[in-house]
Amino acid sequence: MNIVKHTSNIPQQYINAVCIFLLLFISLELFSHETAGSFNSYRIPERAIEFPDTDKYLTIVADLHTHSVFSDGHVWPNIRVSEALRDGLDAIAITEHLEYQPHISDIPHKDRNTAYRIAAEAAKNTNLIVISGSEITRENPIGHMNAIFIEDSNKLISLDNSKIIEAAKLVEERKDEVAVHGGMDAANHLALASLWPVANAVNKANEQGGFVFWNHPTYKVNNGIATPSKKHIEFIKNGTLHGIEVVNENIFSEEAFAIALDYNLTIIGTSDVHNLIDWDYPSHQNQHRPVTLILAEERTKPAMKAALMNGRTVVWYKNLLIGKENNIQPLLNAMMRIDSARYQDNSEILEVTIKNNSDTKIQMTNLSDYSFTSNHDIIEIPAQSAINLNVKTKEQLSSISLEFKILSALVRPKIHPTIILRSKIASD
Ligand SMILES: [Zn+2]
Ligand SMILES: [Zn+2]
Repeated sequence: MNIVKHTSNIPQQYINAVCIFLLLFISLELFSHETAGSFNSYRIPERAIEFPDTDKYLTIVADLHTHSVFSDGHVWPNIRVSEALRDGLDAIAITEHLEYQPHISDIPHKDRNTAYRIAAEAAKNTNLIVISGSEITRENPIGHMNAIFIEDSNKLISLDNSKIIEAAKLVEERKDEVAVHGGMDAANHLALASLWPVANAVNKANEQGGFVFWNHPTYKVNNGIATPSKKHIEFIKNGTLHGIEVVNENIFSEEAFAIALDYNLTIIGTSDVHNLIDWDYPSHQNQHRPVTLILAEERTKPAMKAALMNGRTVVWYKNLLIGKENNIQPLLNAMMRIDSARYQDNSEILEVTIKNNSDTKIQMTNLSDYSFTSNHDIIEIPAQSAINLNVKTKEQLSSISLEFKILSALVRPKIHPTIILRSKIASD
């Protein structure tokens, strides 16, 4: 037969070598299946979120608010890790609700560090930094707060059994909410845990060196306007509340941004993801999770915490960058540059190539006196792209300076930063 004829021409040593190689390959494949190391290959280029480092700092891409089945999320914590790797994040925080435990009957876990431990284990052989955290959960007006970089989540919750009757009364009063809270066990747990004063939990987080921020300050607020309560102001004044979510999921709050500036709180934006990230932010529709860009000296947890404590963040939400001027400005300087500037033939029309070295689309308006041959004053540079502007300079210059207002960035509510791009002009 044909096949026999063929193989008979191949030396036996060669066949043996191929067989050994195939066996080795198959066994390696079997044993390498689903190992933590394989997560490294999960990065999906079109999903990966990329911003350049600034002159002074590394730009760390972080999502500081995520959930799993260990509170009210719907996935195991290792999925948060693989999603973060797919999105090219540098860091995620695991922040389960301490008090709100709708899966408590099916997934009882005495140790509230479990979700973090599972996620940290899953991320072991990857570049992802997993940050421990917890969501301290109370009714409004104090609402929810995340404590991250904590050592032991168990210390942030206390169930005082002497208050069981008081808690049972609270559950009875609101029995129509029991099903929403995950049944009787979960409702009793939530009521009892919520009776522990919130200041105790915040203090315990601070004793561990935690960074604490106020979550979704417009959640269940009828007029949608974030307003700090007396307790928030007390925590801010005594230095135990350090940041505020200006963006949570799909909501941006200008009032929260104003509160951050007024009280010098760190600006945070998070996904607060409960489902699969791709369900909430479908990449095929060009969506991305909100992230906090942390301007840190190093790619380490202590450096990230120091940056957060010092307010060095910019939030990326939809197509908008939100941050304090002293953080936005160096980021814009790193993101944008004139790549080339030269006169067309011997004309007085300067062809300027402006590059956007980031994943956000830049929308800007011209502030200089020059006009352009093929653009009006509102200009867009798509993510990771460049555009050509033909500038009418009226005479041949040796250098150019163009000023733009960046409409897709905010340094205060309704106030946009400006940037001046300078370049020498190449002479032929
Ligand atoms: Zn919350
Ligand atoms: Zn949450």
